[in-house]
Amino acid sequence: MACGVCGSPNTVRSHIIPRALVHDSKEGAQAAVYGERGTPGYRLRQSGKFDDDILCQAHENLTGDLDRYGVDFVRALNAAGNQAGDRQAVSIPNPRPDMLQRFVLSVIWREVQSKRGQASGLSLGSWAESVTDAVFWQRPIVTPLVASYQRFTAERSERVPIGIHPFRVRMLGRNFWQFTVSGCAFWLCLDRRGLPPKFDGVRADLNDPVRAVIGDAKPLEEVGILRAIFADMRRR
Ligand SMILES: [Zn+2]
Repeated sequence: MACGVCGSPNTVRSHIIPRALVHDSKEGAQAAVYGERGTPGYRLRQSGKFDDDILCQAHENLTGDLDRYGVDFVRALNAAGNQAGDRQAVSIPNPRPDMLQRFVLSVIWREVQSKRGQASGLSLGSWAESVTDAVFWQRPIVTPLVASYQRFTAERSERVPIGIHPFRVRMLGRNFWQFTVSGCAFWLCLDRRGLPPKFDGVRADLNDPVRAVIGDAKPLEEVGILRAIFADMRRR
């Protein structure tokens, strides 16, 4: 195998989800709870999933800057969300919307390139080249992005800062990718039709600050879009 960007055979260890966010998810627990669609059961991870065969050192380094930006954003969203009370949205600083967009694209790219992503048939399809160019060569790409603070709850109604690895989902008649890190969700529209202009005001790839929606508090097992994943997580 080789680096998915340049083809170098000298690959290094890459985390799919930034380590720091997996640690945040623990919030004092021993390990993070992470679910994956199509994989029975859930894993308790000390430091999140990694793959040692998707990037060379030079290209792994390029994801480091994006990860730092993404980690800061998720922590700010978690802090604001924790104090949101009854508000339906919070405002989060986002000085480089392009970096947040590239961070989200890079997590999806890494998941697709990983052994597990390949084994389960994940694919960016006709977007593969333009997503790679956007992440590693900063070529502009139009992929509307929305961020939200999720309040999935478990027993005793406490919020679970859950992580869900990237998966494809159909919404608004369009193709999206979604993933959740430390209880914050990213919804990326990967569809040639884009999104109608009425969504421009909440797009995290356009706005600073950006408005992030606060999800309704609901038990994990009642979250429709995630039902398949949690069914998998229970079947362990
Ligand atoms: Zn490379």
